[in-house]
Amino acid sequence: MMMGPGPGGIDCADVLNDVFLYLDDESDPQLRGRIRAHLDGCAPCLRQFGLEQDVLSLIARSGGGDVAPESLRARIKEGLDQVAALAATGEHRAE
Ligand SMILES: [Zn+2]
Repeated sequence: MMMGPGPGGIDCADVLNDVFLYLDDESDPQLRGRIRAHLDGCAPCLRQFGLEQDVLSLIARSGGGDVAPESLRARIKEGLDQVAALAATGEHRAE
């Protein structure tokens, strides 16, 4: 996995950390814009979420002030945990 700033000038790890703030509408507008830009341009992120359509539709809806259903939030959390675990494994792998 490539590290460093990705699409939107924000790297994948930061997106993973902040996407819940985004979904909760608690992040600031500038950060929301960067996360949106990142997810628009970072196919690997979306693919690893395994939730591409759900996330995209959720992001689209989040602009309208709608709230994510609890079940979808749980699924996204699950996906993020898997991505975080993969990222940690990659970082700490010697080879
Ligand atoms: Zn990414």
